[in-house]
Amino acid sequence: MTPPRVAVVGAGFAGLAAAIDLARAGAEVVVLERADEVGGKAGEWRAGGFRFDVGPSVFTLPDVVDALFRDAGRERPFELAPLAPLCRYRYPSGRVWDVYSDLDRTLEGLDAQEGAAYRRALAAARRLYEDAAPTFVRGPAPGLARLAAYGLRHGWRAHPGRRLPDLLAALGVRGDLLPFFLRFATYFGGDPYRAPAVLHNIAWVELGLGVTLPVGGVHGVVRALRALVEDLGVEVRTGVSVEALPVRGGRVREVATDRGPVAVDAVVAAVDRRWALAWLGRATPERRHPSLSGTVALLGVRGATPELAAHTILFPPDYAAEFDDLRAGRHPGDPTLYVHASSKGDPGDAPPGHENWFVMANAPALPPGAPERAEDALAARRLRATLAARGFDPTGRVVVERDLGPSELARFGDRGAIYGAAPTTLASTLRPGPSVRGVRNLRLAGGTVHPGGGMPLALLSGRNAAADLARELGLAPAVAADLG
Ligand SMILES: Cc1cc2nc3c(=O)[nH]c(=O)nc-3n(C[C@H](O)[C@H](O)[C@H](O)COP(=O)(O)OP(=O)(O)OC[C@H]3O[C@@H](n4cnc5c(N)ncnc54)[C@H](O)[C@@H]3O)c2cc1C
Repeated sequence: MTPPRVAVVGAGFAGLAAAIDLARAGAEVVVLERADEVGGKAGEWRAGGFRFDVGPSVFTLPDVVDALFRDAGRERPFELAPLAPLCRYRYPSGRVWDVYSDLDRTLEGLDAQEGAAYRRALAAARRLYEDAAPTFVRGPAPGLARLAAYGLRHGWRAHPGRRLPDLLAALGVRGDLLPFFLRFATYFGGDPYRAPAVLHNIAWVELGLGVTLPVGGVHGVVRALRALVEDLGVEVRTGVSVEALPVRGGRVREVATDRGPVAVDAVVAAVDRRWALAWLGRATPERRHPSLSGTVALLGVRGATPELAAHTILFPPDYAAEFDDLRAGRHPGDPTLYVHASSKGDPGDAPPGHENWFVMANAPALPPGAPERAEDALAARRLRATLAARGFDPTGRVVVERDLGPSELARFGDRGAIYGAAPTTLASTLRPGPSVRGVRNLRLAGGTVHPGGGMPLALLSGRNAAADLARELGLAPAVAADLG
């Protein structure tokens, strides 16, 4: 029997995972990627002896990537180095707090009252995650029956109708611990002051399950996935832009690209869901609340800065004001800065005596229909002044630099929003499943589809889409649907 020919559109984490599983299931897979490189948001920039990951850097749930390699009969070909501290938090008061996977070490930086609140908040996050993960993270997109089962067993413990700040207040989280715990909602693109309480579960993913540093960088993970994809016989075509998915008789029979049509038996569209639906000629309503975008400055700097850890958060004096600005569609005047220096764990990422700083602030997504925004470039330049105001003046130390903002991110996600629609209610944390009504041989994947954004979740979405499509195509062995 001739194997079915499947096109996977988009070579981010989701598309690469889908391609791996479909190839393993016996399909003939071609990956169609618009950019010249694979990796999507997880790109790389090299200059002057520095290497930067230009997108994600907080690498969580390592079992997800492990399972992808293991199921393909391979060892993970890169190391995941433990991080201690997981992250350093610096406050405007001058306070510095290092957070570890080891609870006792973390508590050393807190007073007794804070320590008690931290323990309560961590336990609550763990309960939320462990209740939700089987239904909302690890499994395929839940149907009504599984949603109802979750609702009956755990629903009241997910705090329906409650916002994150109210939950944290009830847990006694205040003072310096408040922005610390609120910030985890931004990992799903949410405004912490509007986010549903259930997003508190993300704190457990980082603090309880831990963060590691992929040696060779996050883009090294992308390279390893590409090598596996190609090893499995998948053809990867870069520089090919998909323009439409014409449907005839309830099926996509060819993918229309700027290089001509590609005949297919089935398709996985691993791009922003709004774009995939637009390719089918189905307009979706404008996102009323797009998730957060980001402003990034990549700075190759001379000298060592021991006051920064591999991951450091520099809080502003007024955390709430940052989100007032973002809600009004403005770049925050005084944003929280996230600084990542992978060279601290992976010295090959910078020349000797230098560090590679990835500096990021939250940014508003682009207004509807706007391809760019004049203020974005200014916001990126301003990151340097904010760094200086927080005690890390890069002036005179910068060897190479590059700025990125929502306009660049708009190549990967609608309006430059990193996580699709913003989670504002318990229900809006749910992402749609991979199927599209009326199109039998198409599945959707990526951060805007169940289970959502972030590297491990995007990988899981690709695996879910592949498993579902493999079943539709009658491919055996179908890929395991339970990824727990
Ligand atoms: C600055 C930044 C920081 C982040 N930090 C973290 C973090 O610390 N930890 C974490 O886990 N996650 C983080 N994320 C989120 C994470 O990067 C994403 O959720 C994940 O990489 C999404 O993968 P994806 O496969 O869904 O989409 P993408 O990576 O966006 O891949 C989609 C692909 O589709 C391609 N494409 C688009 N249109 C077309 C077309 N017309 N034809 C062909 N191909 C097309 C794109 O070029 C792209 O390669 C961050 C993201 C950003 C931008």
